[in-house]
Amino acid sequence: MQDLIRQLLVELGEDPTREGLQRTPHRVEKALKFLTSGYDANIDDVLNNALFTVDYNEMVIVKDIDFYSLCEHHLLPFFGKCHVAYIPQGQVIGLSKIPRLVDVFARRLQVQERMTNQIAETIRQKIDPLGVAVVLEGTHLCMSMRGVEKQNSFAVTSAMLGAFRDNVRTRMEFLELMRGRAGGSVVSNPAGLACIAD
Ligand SMILES: [Zn+2]
Repeated sequence: MQDLIRQLLVELGEDPTREGLQRTPHRVEKALKFLTSGYDANIDDVLNNALFTVDYNEMVIVKDIDFYSLCEHHLLPFFGKCHVAYIPQGQVIGLSKIPRLVDVFARRLQVQERMTNQIAETIRQKIDPLGVAVVLEGTHLCMSMRGVEKQNSFAVTSAMLGAFRDNVRTRMEFLELMRGRAGGSVVSNPAGLACIAD
């Protein structure tokens, strides 16, 4: 990979042998491997013994989870906050594991909509709750840095499964609870394409 990065630097009009760039291919390779390490992660290992049987069926909410990902169209960062809620029916996930789960899907080449769905779908598969809701609020550098006008670089996406999809009151309760600390920035409808692909 380092040869490719050196070649890329040349293509960009740089001199890869100058002092500041000598170790850049090494650093970029290391960074990219970390930022895409979610491909190698095994969900069951991540959740390792953190699924618990409980007699609790009220909404569980984990708010304001920071995420950092790479847009698959431009390989530029998008990042922001992830909010997760579910209503258990017999099983819960240890709270500290939810941010780990978000990292698994964030550390890949992504589009925000797919990442939102993958987090929700994984929770559904692992603990079969009555419902799952995931909301992602992301800022896309591929839009703000490239000066793409007329498009907001901030996007909100949501995935609502089970009770959150079927029951308006449940969905509203979730959005109300989230609004508490999210500063009113959370909206209930997806913002559409999070990044334009050209
Ligand atoms: Zn992009």
